[in-house]
Amino acid sequence: MKILITDPVHEDGIERLKSAGFQVDLAYDITYDELVKRVKDYHGLVVRSRTKVDRAVIASAPNLLFIGRAGVGLDNIDLEAAKERNIIVLNSPEAPTISVAELVFGLLLSLARKIAFCDRLMKAGEWPKKRALGFELKGKTLGIIGLGRIGREVAKRAEAFEMKVLYYDVQRLPEEMEKSLKVQFVELTELLKSSDIVTVHVPLIPQTYHMIDDAKLSLMRKGSILINTSRGGVIDTKALLKHLKNGHLGGACLDVFEHEPPKEPWELELISLDNVVVTSHIGAMTLEAQRAASTILAEKIISTFKGKTL
Ligand code: NAD
Repeated sequence: MKILITDPVHEDGIERLKSAGFQVDLAYDITYDELVKRVKDYHGLVVRSRTKVDRAVIASAPNLLFIGRAGVGLDNIDLEAAKERNIIVLNSPEAPTISVAELVFGLLLSLARKIAFCDRLMKAGEWPKKRALGFELKGKTLGIIGLGRIGREVAKRAEAFEMKVLYYDVQRLPEEMEKSLKVQFVELTELLKSSDIVTVHVPLIPQTYHMIDDAKLSLMRKGSILINTSRGGVIDTKALLKHLKNGHLGGACLDVFEHEPPKEPWELELISLDNVVVTSHIGAMTLEAQRAASTILAEKIISTFKGKTL
């Protein structure tokens, strides 16, 4: 079985595929036009986010049996066109789970202890000790919206910080799991009213677009903190800016934005605030997550196709 990989993926996954007997060709700089010409020879196509696998690419690939996406999003793949041809689409959304959960606490501690703030000021020659009064995580209530893969890992880590954890999800966990994770289910309104820190871990789908809007932000406790490492569109950023500027919210930690990079004046104003800690969508940017994106995908490809004759 011949696989074409058109975006850089970690070599461990490539080696795994080769050792399982797949023929793997790399074409990291391939243009769209070249891909349309070349893809006809392949049974598998592996991409990240750069390569656009649209209807025309799929139509040019009569032998294609699967499309693999190393990582999470499938926005660059025409899923409908793939389905019509019975082409299997595989990805590895599990890969960045730990990295994102750890980033949540990196961002939160940076805000709570003004780490990024002090770093910025000291590099500018100041000694900001008196302006750096922070707070501890111990004893605070953490509200997790979306208790899926990442939300659960966040809950586990919150226990180490001796935080109380509330969660809201459209799918409530079985009681056993709630007990072992030491989390308590509450409705969204209750979570927003009762949490000192709210962290969002839902997918961006039509039902979650601007799920945290002006009205929801109004329900949050005065001085509370919002963390978003999911997708920018889940939060109404303009409303968030309003609640930070009028002093209702105590701060925000953001890894994702409605535009990436942020470009609108209200987004640029938001990221310039001292009580907002930002990173540039780096949730999955760890060696481990990058490696896992490729090795988990490779294992899925192998278990789906190994031993099958063409
Ligand atoms: P997941 O599918 O395991 O969990 C998502 C959870 O959200 C599920 O439990 C689901 O039931 C719940 N949910 C869905 N709709 C909901 C709604 N309307 N209200 C409440 N809960 C709802 O996903 P995950 O792997 O935990 O990822 C969560 C988010 O993190 C996704 O948006 C993903 O795109 C994002 N993510 C970001 C980065 C990054 O680099 N910052 C990396 C990986 C994932």
